[in-house]
Amino acid sequence: MEFEPVIGFEIHAELKTQTKVFCGCKVDFGQAPNTNVCPVCLGMPGSLPVLNRQAVELVLRTALAMNCSITEKSAFDRKNYYYPDLPKNYQISEQYAIIGVGGFVDFAHDGAPRRVRINNIHLEEDAGKNIHPENTAEDYSLVDLNRAGTPLMEIVTEPDLRSLDEAESFMKHIKNLLEYIDVCDCRMQEGSLRFELNVSVKEKGTDAIRPAYVEVKNVASMKTVMAAARYEVKRQTKAYQKGETIEKETRLWDEVANCTRTMRSKEAAKDYRYFPEPDLVEVHIAPEWQEDVRQSIPELQPAKEQRFIEQYGLPKYDAAVLTQSKAVADYFDEAMARHKNPKALSNWMMTDVLRVLGDEGIEPADLKMRPDHLAAMIAMIDDGRISGKIAKEVFTEMIASGKPPEAIVEEKGWVQISDTGAIESLVDDVMAAHPDVCDDYRGGKKKALGRLVGEIMKRSQGKANPALVNQLLAQKLSE
Ligand code: ZN
Ligand code: MN
Repeated sequence: MEFEPVIGFEIHAELKTQTKVFCGCKVDFGQAPNTNVCPVCLGMPGSLPVLNRQAVELVLRTALAMNCSITEKSAFDRKNYYYPDLPKNYQISEQYAIIGVGGFVDFAHDGAPRRVRINNIHLEEDAGKNIHPENTAEDYSLVDLNRAGTPLMEIVTEPDLRSLDEAESFMKHIKNLLEYIDVCDCRMQEGSLRFELNVSVKEKGTDAIRPAYVEVKNVASMKTVMAAARYEVKRQTKAYQKGETIEKETRLWDEVANCTRTMRSKEAAKDYRYFPEPDLVEVHIAPEWQEDVRQSIPELQPAKEQRFIEQYGLPKYDAAVLTQSKAVADYFDEAMARHKNPKALSNWMMTDVLRVLGDEGIEPADLKMRPDHLAAMIAMIDDGRISGKIAKEVFTEMIASGKPPEAIVEEKGWVQISDTGAIESLVDDVMAAHPDVCDDYRGGKKKALGRLVGEIMKRSQGKANPALVNQLLAQKLSE
């Protein structure tokens, strides 16, 4: 019997607000532990929450962008559970009257349109973080409550994904969409966007989905989500083929052993003893507010891709790659304001810049190299001030130091030699040193020219203007 995956997601996105969802503490990643805290987010008895309007607005914007129906009167509920990073012993969330319900997200997979239904989008608060010492022999853990009370949006999808590749495309689409509507900074490495998997399998060609959904936690990157999904599909398929059953449970991804492990049997909602939050009033979302928010949804990826094609004359492929992430597209727009060679800029972005971002796991905003500096460097190539080869080194320096390219070239003495006299003497030297290669060329071996050019470039430490070298060499060889 053949099986295929049935995948859904619970997506947690920390909202891009200045302050927390129920108090005035700053939302700021990477601060000293327990510094962005107050009686409310520390869960002190007697403290009272006050709702952050901006957080509601960002959930509303997402719900509208994902085609949800908006609940005009929503309300918060307490989700009760104990964990050291949750000082109140309950999380304020929404269970009975949720802001956004019954939407869908359309995306392209392998060139074909796909739709995933959205069950609901709700607003809740994030918990703090337990810090475990790196030395596993230590017998303590620490709690940092800076993150406690950060506004968190949870997007719950229906299990509509039918392959691993499709699930990956979907995650990329969601990240892209959340970036575009500017509700989350989507830094997965910092945990501000987290995908939790629900995996089951079904017999191919039937609708008989096995109801035992397994939820997988502790998946910090798309790569681990995919590894966990692959593992679960294999594990469940094998079990069913052997006639075994699969428990409905929550499992943890074990990064070291490359497998998932049982964490706990999946709780039912009743285990959380949800009840209405008595310290907060209902949230009223008037139609006018919905309309205002609808109007504020910015240029989304398909529109930006089209603009890059029309405004910059880029090939469709380039426009698609560059607009995959809004931050990358914004970086490109900024660089274009300084120097107008879109295709050259696009090439540098698609190869060198995206490689650095990928290797270092950072976002464009983290780059020391400013967009106008990259543009200035391309202008220097176009003016013949530096060669493409030198430019690669200037680029590396800009990435490392953030200095402008002019300063780097000046400091290192990397100005391209475009002085005909200087190049002529290099050509003469190399021709005199390799008479045999010159004869080969004159005898019809056109490849010999490349060897001479290579030798000249080497002697000039890559600084000779290659076009000029080729021109002068060809001229002298035919004399
Ligand atoms: Zn606080
Ligand atoms: Mn949640």
